[in-house]
Amino acid sequence: MSEAVLKSYIDGKWVLPATSTDLVTAINPATEEICATVAVCGHDDVDRAARAARAAFDGYAAFTLDQRIALVEKLIAIFERRYDEMVTAISTEMGAPYDLSYNAQAECGPGHLKETIIAAREMEWERKIGSNARLVREPIGVCVLITPWNWPVNQLAAKIGPALVAGCTMILKPSEVAPLSAQLFAEFIDEAGFPAGVFNMVHGTGPAIGDALTSHPEVDMISFTGSTRAGIQVAKSAADTVKRVSQELGGKSANIVFADSDLTAAVKRGVLHCFENAGQSCNAPTRMLVEASVYDDAVGIAAEVARAAKLGDPMEKGRHFGPVVSKLQFDKIQRLIQIGIDEGAQVVAGGVGRAEGFDRGYYVKPTVFAGVHNKMTIAQEEVFGPVLVMIPFKDEAEAIEIANDTPYGLAAYVQSGDLERARRVSRRMRAGGVSINGAGQDYASPFGGYKQSGNGREWGEWGLHDFLEIKVINGFEG
Ligand code: NDP
Repeated sequence: MSEAVLKSYIDGKWVLPATSTDLVTAINPATEEICATVAVCGHDDVDRAARAARAAFDGYAAFTLDQRIALVEKLIAIFERRYDEMVTAISTEMGAPYDLSYNAQAECGPGHLKETIIAAREMEWERKIGSNARLVREPIGVCVLITPWNWPVNQLAAKIGPALVAGCTMILKPSEVAPLSAQLFAEFIDEAGFPAGVFNMVHGTGPAIGDALTSHPEVDMISFTGSTRAGIQVAKSAADTVKRVSQELGGKSANIVFADSDLTAAVKRGVLHCFENAGQSCNAPTRMLVEASVYDDAVGIAAEVARAAKLGDPMEKGRHFGPVVSKLQFDKIQRLIQIGIDEGAQVVAGGVGRAEGFDRGYYVKPTVFAGVHNKMTIAQEEVFGPVLVMIPFKDEAEAIEIANDTPYGLAAYVQSGDLERARRVSRRMRAGGVSINGAGQDYASPFGGYKQSGNGREWGEWGLHDFLEIKVINGFEG
């Protein structure tokens, strides 16, 4: 994979940029070697892609739902046939260990696509409204999809799937840090036989072509996942042409552990969830709030779990954690760990420096901080690494107050032996998703956040709504 220069995909063809000769390399985070070289697009290529998507829109929007679903079903079959290639691409480009890539990261592809089809079949696309009007749902138009590197296929499938099923045309700009999975996804779409111009992919960095994409007059809607910083820039750039902007941004999610929970199980589950994907998940439970009466016990359990956590080669099977995605990310995490120490938090596992046993690769020590209060930088900023902070609380009211004391509102977690209490506290969380006692989330549920965690909801039925306009035709019913 390392030799070939990755091309963009515009109007049904694999193309090199028209004028730009710039190349960007992606680094395998476990080996620190180049794993891909990407030919990055300029503004002229963005314009070419936007025009191709616009030209394809009327034709594709006129396809019946069954025709669009048939094409997406072909896409799913191709994805499943080439599944192992996708697993390897993800582990190579962003360091997710094999088991996580196989069982979760790659699985999001067929998972979201299938759920989107179910939701589309169940959706009421048209209905009578009022005395004589018809309510009609229609594709919003040309969409720009901007995706990050942390759950690359999840984010590709959660945007491309509903856009295709809704009848939109699109331009994808994947993260240049992790281009291999997007390249494969584009190959699958090419093979599935969508009309030229329905799906386009331009490689390029956010700073270089982000604004050209998000302000383009032919673009109707932006679906963005990434940092709150970049999400704000995208919304500002889209504002002059009044585009719809859907944003899935950062998080600093609280995991409230009450004394009446099964403490060992709850703390262990919380620590491992925080460290999963090397801590690079927007909904990771990174702030563990523990009832004061069991706080010291919980800190002991968490430290033990963190010290026992194994790190290893992403290409190998087994229960280990991988490196973080890049040197930039490694350095950011180191800086934040040091800030935590400087602000007086106590490291009870891990700490600064590369994990022992590795002379290369961006392996961060799984780190647990105790003695944290919620105003500390490590309790407020998204670290995006395997770093857990543990904060004591005295009662239910204080737990709710601390949990909501963050600019973010993506997820929250509640652990309690008293289901009534867990339900009560869940209702008070200012977050888009709450999980009680380790319950998982399936593809049919909405995913997204309150406050600065974003706008809009992805996945299933709600993912489709993001890509649809609503029209009322008065007098339609005669
Ligand atoms: P970014 O938000 O910068 O990148 C996400 C995507 O947005 C990438 O495709 C990026 O392109 C693109 N992008 C960046 N700036 C713009 C812009 N002005 N206009 C249009 N597109 C843009 O995330 P980073 O990779 O820099 O990660 C930094 C931090 O963001 C992490 O440490 C983490 O805290 C957070 N993050 C949160 C995620 C989440 O799911 N909530 C996901 C990823 C990161 P490119 O990278 O190619 O330049």
